[in-house]
Amino acid sequence: MTVVTFNDNARVGGNTAKRRGGTVAAIGGGTVGLGAIVVLLIQAFTGADLSGLVGGGAPASPQTGGEQIASCETGQDANRDDACRLAAASLNIDQFWAERLDGYREPQLIIVDRATSSSCGTASNSTGPFYCPPDEAVFVDPTFFSILRDQFDTTAGPLAQLYVLAHEYGHHVQNLTGVMQQYPNNGTGPDSNGVRTELQADCYAGAWVAAAGEQVDENGTPYLQPPTAQQITDALSAAAAVGDDHIQAESGGVVNPESFTHGSSEQRTRWFDVGYDTGVNACDTFSVPGQNL
Ligand SMILES: [Zn+2]
Repeated sequence: MTVVTFNDNARVGGNTAKRRGGTVAAIGGGTVGLGAIVVLLIQAFTGADLSGLVGGGAPASPQTGGEQIASCETGQDANRDDACRLAAASLNIDQFWAERLDGYREPQLIIVDRATSSSCGTASNSTGPFYCPPDEAVFVDPTFFSILRDQFDTTAGPLAQLYVLAHEYGHHVQNLTGVMQQYPNNGTGPDSNGVRTELQADCYAGAWVAAAGEQVDENGTPYLQPPTAQQITDALSAAAAVGDDHIQAESGGVVNPESFTHGSSEQRTRWFDVGYDTGVNACDTFSVPGQNL
């Protein structure tokens, strides 16, 4: 696995990511056992609402605040530590979108430490990364990637981790542009609004990966060295690993396209490629006829 690399001397201390967390019980959620972890993984990747099974509903008052990510000043720190890598990448992704979207405002990036609560429910490594529209916040527990590696046979290397992060920032862009409101959840299926929303977020992530080496710090130093072909293959394998059909098959289930909420592995890698090859303006997944989606 080749490591996507921040330039050692890039300045990343200006990131606004927060580490937030505690035990699930401490934040008023139910207890999350192994069986529940598997259920939540299927939920995370198939979108089926199983929250009743694990008591992950939205708490009365979501946790707030959090600590700055410690010892996260340079690209060297980001190359060494998963939480710092995500925090440093947020600077890069925010700059990417600020250059492409009028009125872009940054979401809050929350690095989850064990578990934390949000207006969208509990965030932990068993829920997987998600974007919570009412909080305008992206929640990521870095330990989730080892679960992805173990459970879904993908390398989940650093660029794959940043692809997942850029996907969640894609949802933030959809919230800012009104796409989320314009195409509300209309059930499941290979050409449902939910799948179109997810594939657009994959396309946005592909567009960011293609330009990842272009964003610079306050000294003009590029944050990242341009990803190599091997690293991009790694990110694509992560996109394929989280296709609904792959997850349903891996979980011993029958592949049922009518239950899709994120898209098949083929759809997810293809829209990643559309964004990678052509940029954000090619990511209109809502006007594409279903058979071409
Ligand atoms: Zn998504």
